[in-house]
Amino acid sequence: SKNNGAGQYRFFTSDMNDEVSKKLMLESGLRKGMISEEFLLYYQPQVDVLTGEVKGYEALVRWEHPELGMVPPAEFIPLAEETGLIVPLGRWILQEACRQMAAWKEEGSTVTRMSVNISTLQFQQPDFLKMVTEILETTGLPPEYLELELTESIVQDLEHSVPLMKSIRAKGIRISLDDFGTGYSSLSYLKDFPINTLKIDKTFMDSIEDGQREEAIVESIIHMAQRLGFNVIAEGIEKCSQLRLLSEKACQEYQGYYFSPPLPAEAIRVYKGQKDEE
Ligand code: C2E
Ligand code: CA
Ligand code: CA
Ligand code: CA
Repeated sequence: SKNNGAGQYRFFTSDMNDEVSKKLMLESGLRKGMISEEFLLYYQPQVDVLTGEVKGYEALVRWEHPELGMVPPAEFIPLAEETGLIVPLGRWILQEACRQMAAWKEEGSTVTRMSVNISTLQFQQPDFLKMVTEILETTGLPPEYLELELTESIVQDLEHSVPLMKSIRAKGIRISLDDFGTGYSSLSYLKDFPINTLKIDKTFMDSIEDGQREEAIVESIIHMAQRLGFNVIAEGIEKCSQLRLLSEKACQEYQGYYFSPPLPAEAIRVYKGQKDEE
C-alpha cells in the first residue's frame, strides 16, 4: 500500500481492523476457551472492618488466553454478553465457585459466604433459578453460603426482578446489590429489593477523603443501608486511611487491595479464613 496522503486514513482503517480482528479473535477464543478450559476463578476476601476476619469471598473470573495472556474481564464479559456466551460461561463460573466453596467448607473453613457476579442475560434466562438450585444440589453447598451479586442495571426492570429476587431469597440464597451508587440508582427502589447486602462502589471510596461532602454521602449510604437491615460492604479499599474512616462510620465489611487482591484458589488460606501473612 502507498505511503502518501492516505496515511491518515490507512492508519484509521488498520486501527479499526485491529479492533475488529481482536474482537473476532476474542469471540472465537471465548468458545474455544470454554472447551479447552482457559478460564479460572480468582477469589477476593471480604473482610470485617473491626476484626479483620474474612467473612466471604467474591469470585472473579480470569481468562488465560494462549496468545494474548490474561484478558481482563472488563474486555471479555461484555463480549460474552453480546454473543450470549455468558450463559454457559456464567453457569460454569457459578458451578466452579460453589464447588470450591463446598470444598473449603469440607476442609474446615469458617468463611460462610461466596459471592458470584451475575450478568444481565444470565438473570433473564427463564431457567435461571432452576440452574442455580441444581448447582447447589450437585455441589452440596448450602444455599445460605451463596450470594448472587446483581447490579442496579440488572434489576432495573422491577416487574421481572423483584419477584425473581423474592424466589431466590425464598430458597435461602443471598443477594447483594453491586456497584451501588453508579447506575440508575433510585433510592425508592431499595425498599422493594429483598437484598442482604449493599456494596458501595469504589468510586465513592476513592473520594471519601476528599472532603466533607464525599464523607457525608458515604456516611449516609451506610446509615440508610443499615436502617434497611442490609449488610454493607465498601469496595476498592486501598489505604489505611480509608479503612479508618469506614470504622468511624460503622461500616461492617470491606473489600480491596489494602487487605488482598483477588487470588487464585491455591493462595487462599482457608482454615481460619485469615489473611496469609507470608
Ligand atoms: P466488580 O464486580 O465491581 O468487581 C470488583 C473489581 O474491582 C474486580 O476487578 C477487582 O479485582 C477490583 N478490585 C478489588 N479491589 C480493588 C482495589 O482495592 N482497587 C482497585 N483499583 N480495584 C479493585 P476485575 O476482577 O477486573 O473485574 C471487573 C469487573 O468484571 C467486575 O466488577 C464485574 O463487573 C466483572 N466480572 C468479573 N468477574 C465476573 C464474573 O465471574 N461474572 C460476571 N458476570 N462478571 C464478572
Ligand atoms: Ca461484583
Ligand atoms: Ca462492584
Ligand atoms: Ca464495578
